[in-house]
Amino acid sequence: MSSIRHWRFRRRHRRRTDTERPGAWRPSRWGLWSAPPVVIGYVLAVDLSAFVLLIATVRAIDIRVQDWVWLGMLAIGSAIHIEAARGIERLREVAAEGVPYVNLKGMWTFAGVLVLPPPLAFALIALTYTHSWFRLRRVTSYRWFFSAATIVLAGAAAAVSLVSLSPDTYPGYPPGPLGLVAVTVAGLAYWFVNYALVVGAVLLSNPDSTAQKALGRLSDQLIVAGSLGLGVATASLLRHEPWTVVVLLLTILGLHRALLVGQFQTAARTDPQTGLANSVFWHEMAGKELARAARTQTSLGIVFLDLDHFKTVNDTNGHPAGDQVLKAIADELRREVRTDDLVGRFGGEEFAVLLPNTDPKDTTATGERIRHRIEALTVTITTPRGQTALDGLTCSVGTATYPTCGTTLEELILAADTATYVAKQAGRNRVVTAPATEPADDSPTPGN
Ligand code: GH3
Ligand code: MG
Ligand code: MG
Repeated sequence: MSSIRHWRFRRRHRRRTDTERPGAWRPSRWGLWSAPPVVIGYVLAVDLSAFVLLIATVRAIDIRVQDWVWLGMLAIGSAIHIEAARGIERLREVAAEGVPYVNLKGMWTFAGVLVLPPPLAFALIALTYTHSWFRLRRVTSYRWFFSAATIVLAGAAAAVSLVSLSPDTYPGYPPGPLGLVAVTVAGLAYWFVNYALVVGAVLLSNPDSTAQKALGRLSDQLIVAGSLGLGVATASLLRHEPWTVVVLLLTILGLHRALLVGQFQTAARTDPQTGLANSVFWHEMAGKELARAARTQTSLGIVFLDLDHFKTVNDTNGHPAGDQVLKAIADELRREVRTDDLVGRFGGEEFAVLLPNTDPKDTTATGERIRHRIEALTVTITTPRGQTALDGLTCSVGTATYPTCGTTLEELILAADTATYVAKQAGRNRVVTAPATEPADDSPTPGN
């Protein structure tokens, strides 16, 4: 569920600048007390409500041995899940800096709410949150307590829905279609209360936050929805086939690791500013494509481009406008090439396109198309003077092809880079094709 790790109380003497790494500020132990009174009041009200609820439910319902067994199973499942996915969750938590961090704990806590009497359900929430607090990142205790409190209140909302829909089957939910209605309504109540409380905290503590930022990403809410769905599956297995919960746990662990590791691999190979491949990934893929071209005796084209006088764009319109231009150029490059081609950013305003199965003629033609496209581009930029349209951008392009201009990646990159340099020297806004280092494939050879 959502948590409030991203809270950043604005303090008069400490304002984050754009260049500072988000999250560099860690609130002090007294972080809550340095917050505006309305935030302190809000957090304490949520905490107190959860606490009162815990006390009030302690002896509300008879607890059967079965309930203790289920509590034990859910607690063990949650503990194994937290331990096994600790590395990846720590990364996710860091990556979520600035937006609500969501997790899969709902798989266990919501299952608890569905099958356990309130005191045990709340005990499970407390156990799960305490465990993850110790084993993941140690956020300040008041944040942790608030996160756990929102889940307790969410659990209470879900329990109230279950009781109202089917008092006879609570704790638990009725069989048949009404069961589906009950778990759906309970899930919605659980999700809504947690989400609303966290978004409320974000908005109160960061009044400048945009609504979009406070509400978080839709994909995160899908993760939450998934975790609640898994909670229903866990609850159902517990009631009917308790031992198969182990299979569910192992399946989730496998998916959790595989899917999220994949997500991070994608992040590690992408240039965040433009969404293009970063230099490391581009080189890695270029090496693989080159090996393939050598094996299959096909050609491979490389197009390098460096924007002309880009420093002037920055100097005239400001760096943020320059960034907007880079993003627009990246989009144009992606549109101009085939899906199999790989556009990378080599840092600054230099880009490289990898063209598998492309001969020298087509590589040069692609370079020309790119040059024309950039020449024709108009970008809306935001300058200190307001929004304006910028055109007249040009670039210098150098192309090289395997095996014509070299047989190793170093040779090809050097050839394309040198060609780009020659294009600059020759007056910019032009394409230069690197010279062949060996006779072209179709040139006459002795004996033909
Ligand atoms: P030339 O025609 O010789 O290439 O001139 P140039 O001004 O483009 O020179 P060069 O390629 O050396 O310039 C790189 C400039 O690109 C310097 C810097 O101001 C700008 N730049 C590099 N990275 C970024 C970036 O991420 N954002 C912005 N806005 N500008 C960048
Ligand atoms: Mg440059
Ligand atoms: Mg340049």
